[in-house]
Amino acid sequence: MSCYLNGRFLPLADAKVPALDRGFVFGDGVYELVPVYSRKPFRLDDHLRRLQGSLDGIRLANPHEVSEWHELIVELIDLQDFADQSVYIQVTRGAPAEGQPPRDHALPKGVQPTVFMFAQPLVTASPAQKAAGVCAVSAADNRWLRCDIKATSLLANILLRQQAVDAECAETVMLRDGFLTEGAASNIFVVKDGVLLAPPPSNLMLTGITYDVVLELAAAHGIPHAVRAISEAEVRSADELWMTSSTREVMAIVKLDGVPVGAGVPGPLAQRMDALYQTFKQEVMRA
Ligand code: PMP
Repeated sequence: MSCYLNGRFLPLADAKVPALDRGFVFGDGVYELVPVYSRKPFRLDDHLRRLQGSLDGIRLANPHEVSEWHELIVELIDLQDFADQSVYIQVTRGAPAEGQPPRDHALPKGVQPTVFMFAQPLVTASPAQKAAGVCAVSAADNRWLRCDIKATSLLANILLRQQAVDAECAETVMLRDGFLTEGAASNIFVVKDGVLLAPPPSNLMLTGITYDVVLELAAAHGIPHAVRAISEAEVRSADELWMTSSTREVMAIVKLDGVPVGAGVPGPLAQRMDALYQTFKQEVMRA
């Protein structure tokens, strides 16, 4: 499996970064995950825009122009021997230079960022998994207030996701001050009385690329929808609850904290949106 590190393509096992890299010492970096279908990156420009937003959020200059990112990502994709991929992109603030303090919170000057990318086979849910849906647990969102930055420091998300794993569930649905934010690694949608509800983008959540596509598809296909704050009571009385992400796509949550969501099976709108999403993917790949 080939990866990319600071200007070179090399086997993943040979990729080495200095121990003082701020990504390792502080979690001082940002990342993206781009799904690739039949060797075509999905919504790459949207991912690169979000990467730029994350870099701006942590005051780190983008080491590459958009066209350079395109070239590097296309080359990485070509080097893999599998067609459907998930490409992970990480940019950290790099390792302090000679003569600089080895570990100092303050932003170092004149340091080259570390750029690391690798590709894995993309594994999306099977039709059987989609038909079954998944269970989720809820938890208080105890993350920082810049959840719009896709930061590599994911400790809170990891611990929150583990609560779901411990309950043999797929996701943790997070609530802050009585309102829905998102999942530990996904966005959450609610369906009530035929209306699709999505929480509004803010510093309290990461706006998913899948989230955007779902809302675009809802608009394009006349599905009633609203982007607004969603209360915990609305989450708990939802007819349908979905999690969305690049790898999970549109996945119905059929049980929350052990209580069935709606009828306790994937709802009609989840199935319709998943079908629209699959068709949309195919169209993008053919384009
Ligand atoms: N929120 C969080 C916290 C995530 O980790 C993810 C997955 N990257 C998402 C939302 C969904 O984003 P996307 O649809 O771009 O995968």
